Amino acid sequence: MSINTDYLIIGGGASGMAFADTLCTHTNATITIVDRGHSPGGHWNHAYPFVRLHQPSSFYGVPSKELGCNEIDTVGGNKGLYELASGSEVRGYFQQVLDQKLLPTGRVRYFGNSEYRDDGSIYSKVSGKEHDVSVRIKTVDTGYMGGAIPATHTRKFDVNANISCVSPSQLAEIQNAAAQYVIIGSGKTGIDVCLWLLDQGVRPDQIVWVMPRDAWFIDRRGFQPTADFYDDRLHLAVKENEAIIAAGSFDDLFDQLEHAGSLMRLDRDIKPTAYKCATVTIKELEALRRIKNIVRLGHLKQIFEGQLVLENGVYTTRENAIHVDCSATGIPKVNAKPIYDNDRIHVQCVRTCQPTFSAALIAYIEVVGTDDTHKNSLSAPIPYPTDDKDWVSQKFISGQNQLAWVQNESIRNWLKECRLDALKSGQSPSKRTPEQDIMALKLKNTFFAAYTKLQYFADDMKSK
Ligand SMILES: Cc1cc2nc3c(=O)[nH]c(=O)nc-3n(C[C@H](O)[C@H](O)[C@H](O)COP(=O)(O)OP(=O)(O)OC[C@H]3O[C@@H](n4cnc5c(N)ncnc54)[C@H](O)[C@@H]3O)c2cc1C
Repeated sequence: MSINTDYLIIGGGASGMAFADTLCTHTNATITIVDRGHSPGGHWNHAYPFVRLHQPSSFYGVPSKELGCNEIDTVGGNKGLYELASGSEVRGYFQQVLDQKLLPTGRVRYFGNSEYRDDGSIYSKVSGKEHDVSVRIKTVDTGYMGGAIPATHTRKFDVNANISCVSPSQLAEIQNAAAQYVIIGSGKTGIDVCLWLLDQGVRPDQIVWVMPRDAWFIDRRGFQPTADFYDDRLHLAVKENEAIIAAGSFDDLFDQLEHAGSLMRLDRDIKPTAYKCATVTIKELEALRRIKNIVRLGHLKQIFEGQLVLENGVYTTRENAIHVDCSATGIPKVNAKPIYDNDRIHVQCVRTCQPTFSAALIAYIEVVGTDDTHKNSLSAPIPYPTDDKDWVSQKFISGQNQLAWVQNESIRNWLKECRLDALKSGQSPSKRTPEQDIMALKLKNTFFAAYTKLQYFADDMKSK
């Protein structure tokens, strides 16, 4: 069978769904979505059972449908802040988006359990059928940023026979408590696993945390929607700009950002070199600080009974410890490439670490932009950050994009309406208090100086 479609979207993950939803709202185009997995949602279909979003549900997903109930959590580490959808909620949500929003338009087809091949065909892994696809307008590649999660990645360390080394999903299924849990990896999954173990009543001294590099974290309080958090967000944004302006050097920048409350770290005596957009609350950070067995000896090479062999030394563990592999890269840093590329769209982030907002905006720019040069001028790609240096470049490019967007009337209006825009203040200027007016003016007045300083740091890093 041959398929004719205006747009072919490779990948029905969060990015593909946000792109399709936006295209459906603003065009009459026909859309074909192809995904290797059975259900939409991409990697969320393979996530561990206690996974949650790290950002409020209120600005995640697709533009046309709310995710969650916009409630404030009253219990747990996120208490006092807007709800974070669980993995099952995210999966159910994307299924509903497909079934209730996209398919009923009669313009969208979804090919699950299917592989898109470079020869332009779709192969069903179940029926074995092949379809030739004829794309009238563009092919949208949402797989460029890649991504590996614990359940599907290949370990980079060896595990001796009879050692228990499990994924976070397997950890949630264990039947017999261990005397010790060794968490391998200090990214967001490692944080989730440590917090989950503590929540389950595991004592902090039963946890060993292998941390090749310390990371800077974002305080989730500064990343909340609506007018309820307007003061916090305004103050934080002004303090962050002032911190950037005051920074005397790249090194000093991070001290200033920490002082301003923009970034946090696990151990105040150790300067992190990693930055991966992980968000935590102060309460969660305090819980993590109760874990004292932190192994800072580089990457793990091999696990023996009672021993971890790492790049820079050996660490003794208890017999029969359960090792939890949280070392998957998550989203790797790939080289940025132009998003609009003739008959292809390579979906990447255009606002730092906001994949669904980015995919939706890229779709909108596809609709309202004139040609590739114009569209690319509105959407500089931002690779996922991994290092402290990336904090500077991602902040700078995000600012550059934001400036371009607000100068474009159509995009400015779209942003005002878009539920995925985390930077919307939620407070109309007419409702501001005099104090808020002063802070809003301060924010405006510090923006360009901070932006110029970031450019200085970015150029300085490039020249080294
Ligand atoms: C624990 C965890 C928590 C996270 N929390 C947040 C958060 O709070 N906020 C946030 O913004 N992000 C978060 N993320 C990041 C998350 O990766 C993104 O939100 C988003 O799910 C990425 O979606 P995607 O569509 O870009 O990629 P994926 O989910 O990887 O989807 C890509 C899809 O494309 C398919 N595909 C690729 N190539 C082909 C092909 N040739 N043929 C067929 N199918 C193909 C794949 O099978 C896959 O299903 C989190 C990630 C993790 C691991």
